[in-house]
Amino acid sequence: MSASKTRPIRWGMVGGGRGSQIGYIHRSAALRDSTFELTAGAFDIDPERGRAFGVELGLDEARSYPDYVAMFAAEAERPDGIEAVSIATPNNTHFAICTAALEHGLHVICEKPLCFTVSEAEELKALSQARGKIVGVTYGYAGHQMIEQARAMVKNGDLGEIRIVNLQFAHGFHSAPVEEQNPSTRWRVDPRFAGPSYVLGDVGTHPLYISEVILPHLKIKRLMCTRQSFVKSRAPLEDNAVTLMEYDNGAIATVWSSAVNAGSMHGQKVRIVGEKASIEWWDERPNQLSYEIQGEPVRVLERGMDYLYPEARIDDRIGGGHPEGLFEAWANLYRRFDLAISGNSRLAPAGVRNLVFPDIDAGLEGVRWVENCVRSADAGGIWVDYK
Ligand code: NAD
Repeated sequence: MSASKTRPIRWGMVGGGRGSQIGYIHRSAALRDSTFELTAGAFDIDPERGRAFGVELGLDEARSYPDYVAMFAAEAERPDGIEAVSIATPNNTHFAICTAALEHGLHVICEKPLCFTVSEAEELKALSQARGKIVGVTYGYAGHQMIEQARAMVKNGDLGEIRIVNLQFAHGFHSAPVEEQNPSTRWRVDPRFAGPSYVLGDVGTHPLYISEVILPHLKIKRLMCTRQSFVKSRAPLEDNAVTLMEYDNGAIATVWSSAVNAGSMHGQKVRIVGEKASIEWWDERPNQLSYEIQGEPVRVLERGMDYLYPEARIDDRIGGGHPEGLFEAWANLYRRFDLAISGNSRLAPAGVRNLVFPDIDAGLEGVRWVENCVRSADAGGIWVDYK
């Protein structure tokens, strides 16, 4: 792309309009480090509401579009048109909007799940390669610094051979049929908008991606999954699922995905058990990583400290002791998207950063995992070879 090393990438948004759950954090993260500049948008399914919202955000009225089709067409005609777009709309629209964006020569940052099927994801991958554009996927929790520490600890052998992986994202917010009142939840439990799953795709793919970052050498060999709709009106979509997985090195994993874990705030946890020691990360206390060596007292490693591996300190913005949160984690991801798009190293010393970011392959893997889980669950919870 032509993005220069000295100016922000011209960036647009589809979705993420007023009152949406995830729009604000996209803007906050993208704009935090002056790597992206919001220059256009089609923010809302309601054209007038979307237009007004864009103007309120400071956009030129002509560039606050009624829909993404008009935006991509008009921006492609401008010498100063957008170079990248983020897609923050319900799941059923991702494939069509991603395809259109890539066809208009844009880099894409897309919400998860990337699309509904592996074959759609493979199509997007081929298109992004043909056009030489990146597709980033906002597995935002992966931007927390202690995930980099965990990855480095595994790489450096601090845990020894990995044996057991325990993953969960199990919140309690949908223990009752809140979708009757809440439109943001309503589409999530309707397969026409959500796709083949609810919690597997909506929450389970987050710790799954974190496990891929920390354990890049582990490949899933087979899995079995059971899924339930405890709130009956959600069937056929599940509000709870348990997945058991075997990796090709003999390690095993469980993944608990749930929206009915009553009383739990978020409940996203990643525990990795090696032959010598274990580590555990919990997204409600993201600045800490528990390091448990067999036979020794538990250590709690803290973000921003000198004793961490260098990879875990690259994104430190303020020094240890100061709590950072989800907004910083997302900003770290957007900084990596910028690096991937422009090769821009102005914000990270060249050669220091091992550029790991949720790319098209991460998006594809999330879709593949959901597809395999659903295949197993709908066949009665049987082992299926991972494909
Ligand atoms: P939401 O229902 O709260 O908001 C959706 C927004 O998209 C609204 O502003 C709506 O008007 C707009 N919209 C819908 N169709 C559109 C279209 N065709 N063109 C333009 N705008 C359109 O949904 P949400 O909770 O913000 O979720 C949006 C996406 O983000 C989903 O794919 C969801 O899975 C994902 N999400 C990801 C995370 C994360 O941690 N990465 C968290 C929450 C949601």
